[in-house]
Amino acid sequence: MNPDCIFCKIVKGEIPCAKVYENQKYVAFLDITPVNPGHTLVIPKEHYEDLLNTPDSVLDGMLNDSKKIAKAVLKAVGAEGFNLTVNVGPVSGQVVPHLHIHIMPRFPNDGHHLFKGGAYKEGEIQKVAEKIRQNL
Ligand code: 5GP
Ligand code: ZN
Repeated sequence: MNPDCIFCKIVKGEIPCAKVYENQKYVAFLDITPVNPGHTLVIPKEHYEDLLNTPDSVLDGMLNDSKKIAKAVLKAVGAEGFNLTVNVGPVSGQVVPHLHIHIMPRFPNDGHHLFKGGAYKEGEIQKVAEKIRQNL
């Protein structure tokens, strides 16, 4: 637990939330500034800053539970699909430094757009792929 962390305070019940799910490892609650109604955050009860700093044992089961919660979100708000997002680091838009998975229900013509794809220069895609393979 991190005493300064807003999500730790939610886990401890010090800050209220619209909780939709809880088990031994995770809590899920509605985001207060939703992309669409039903936008849900799934967090581990333990404090870890982001995905890369979270032990595999804590992550184990988190995607399965998010899938279960996402199905319920879709039914509850009548959405046809959703985006599952994990922001890592301020540059990505991560504002709260306690790992969370966003489940964002989507509706046709809801005005939200996916990232705009770019292009690789000649030969660049192979170089980038090789660098990634070397770092695994
Ligand atoms: P991030 O940008 O870090 O991936 O997402 C953090 C999310 O947490 C934001 O979408 C924001 O609306 C949500 N959030 C921040 N503070 C609170 C809070 O006190 N309660 C709830 N329910 N959501 C919060
Ligand atoms: Zn925390």
